[in-house]
Amino acid sequence: MTAKQRHDMGSGGKCICPKCEASVSHERGLPCQELRCLSCGVKMLRVGSPHYDLWKTKQDAKKGSGYC
Ligand SMILES: [Zn+2]
Repeated sequence: MTAKQRHDMGSGGKCICPKCEASVSHERGLPCQELRCLSCGVKMLRVGSPHYDLWKTKQDAKKGSGYC
């Protein structure tokens, strides 16, 4: 099978740590919230999920002040 997986929201995807932004590949059947960051121990977010969007917005706002 040749399935193109480029930021596909349906399958694959990534989980990201909201604290240190470490990302791991999302495993099917295993919600990102069940995963904990290895270094921070916090629950991870599914990239592309509403929670992630919310976090991303906050991150961008934070970075916005010191960016450029
Ligand atoms: Zn982390």
